Amino acid sequence: MQLTFHGAAREVTGSCHIVQAHGRTILLDCGMFQGKRSDVRRKNLELPLDIGRIDAVVLTHAHIDHSGRLPLLVREGYAKAIHCTPATRDLCVPMLADSAHIQERDAEFLARHRKEVFEPLYGTKDVARTIDLMQAHAYGARFEVVPGVFVTFSDAGHILGSASVTVEFTNGSASKRLVFSGDIGRSGLPIIRDPDPPKQADWVLMESTYGNRDHESVQGAREALAQVVRETAARGGRILVPAFAVGRTQELVYDLHQMAEAGEIPRLPIYIDSPLATRATEAFEKNVDVFDQTEGFVRRHNGESLFQFPMLRYTPEVEDSKALARATGPMIIIAASGMAESGRILHHLAQGASNPRNTILIVGFQAEHTLGRRIVERQETIKVYGEEVALRAQVKVLNGYSAHADRTELGMWLDAVRATSPNLKDVYLVHGEIPAQDAFAERLRLSGYRVQSPAAGTRINLT
Ligand SMILES: [Zn+2]
Repeated sequence: MQLTFHGAAREVTGSCHIVQAHGRTILLDCGMFQGKRSDVRRKNLELPLDIGRIDAVVLTHAHIDHSGRLPLLVREGYAKAIHCTPATRDLCVPMLADSAHIQERDAEFLARHRKEVFEPLYGTKDVARTIDLMQAHAYGARFEVVPGVFVTFSDAGHILGSASVTVEFTNGSASKRLVFSGDIGRSGLPIIRDPDPPKQADWVLMESTYGNRDHESVQGAREALAQVVRETAARGGRILVPAFAVGRTQELVYDLHQMAEAGEIPRLPIYIDSPLATRATEAFEKNVDVFDQTEGFVRRHNGESLFQFPMLRYTPEVEDSKALARATGPMIIIAASGMAESGRILHHLAQGASNPRNTILIVGFQAEHTLGRRIVERQETIKVYGEEVALRAQVKVLNGYSAHADRTELGMWLDAVRATSPNLKDVYLVHGEIPAQDAFAERLRLSGYRVQSPAAGTRINLT
């Protein structure tokens, strides 16, 4: 068996790993590289290997940095199965369609403004064919992906439908198991279940995004959220939340709903002002069976009414979104994009950032050079749609809503795998920037693991 590192090797995007066994080839994820357009364009076009050599694809979850190049594979001729969980398939429908739209829009923009010919990586037709190839498997169901190689998904607790993958290579009566963590979530996140570490691994391939830091607690973030809402409402202001459409939006809504019912916050109107978030929420409603039934609020609402209640309003039409500018009184507006680089959050910021009664609530990681980062740094003015806007609104940052395990939680996840794995020694780190990987590798070595953080192109024989 061989394992080759292609994407998310010494970096955090473009998740893609190649497993070869019994003369067959399986891709684990086929994600998009993200970053500056000019830097990632070539990397995204370069396929991991000839389409004709790929026998199966296994997808851990719907995030674009894990799923975003699947339609490109399909456009180039891939027509075999893509295995994933049912919720991952349901979330991929709006997410990959959105990705295709973004690329088509970018291509048009460049053609118009810079006279550059820029082919989109794929279009909506390729997305529809990709979804048709997706075969859904429940957590815990063992299925054969190519002769002699079996896969089982277990809940990774990261976003709805996210999975860790056990790949089992059989040879007669003997078998060996490679565990791929996918992205690992946090215990106690709203709605979704806690991570369920796989068992009996011979090798582990694992993410290391936050290998060098710990987050604030989930409970602490919830309390801070309640306080922000109370204080902003008392000032008569609005709370503007740039948020990822999938996961973070639904978690915030869930917590706000619960806090309002418990009387911890006033009942303010909450607007989900994002067509993608609206469609993603529908995917949540289709997959209530994988919600965390240990949460009393989930059980009480039986899933369906979690995202349909009088305080919550969806504004799919642009006109409804613009009308919010004329609305009065305190309210909460959750809109994409998560780093305030595009999307409807921009017109809310253009209008609301200069009002000291308002709060801009940051609930996700803000990369360098993004508008979200400039807000976190509390710069005096920010540029929105090319215009300078004074930043006088309050800015509040909550890190506890991260969908990624921190270094302590990553270590606990791996120790739980090791507890059932007498033969486990080798751990391969992926999906982390170099400082995070190096710090985490050092911690793991102290605990007796043999650790490597391979660069893209590295091939390892698993024996
Ligand atoms: Zn992810």
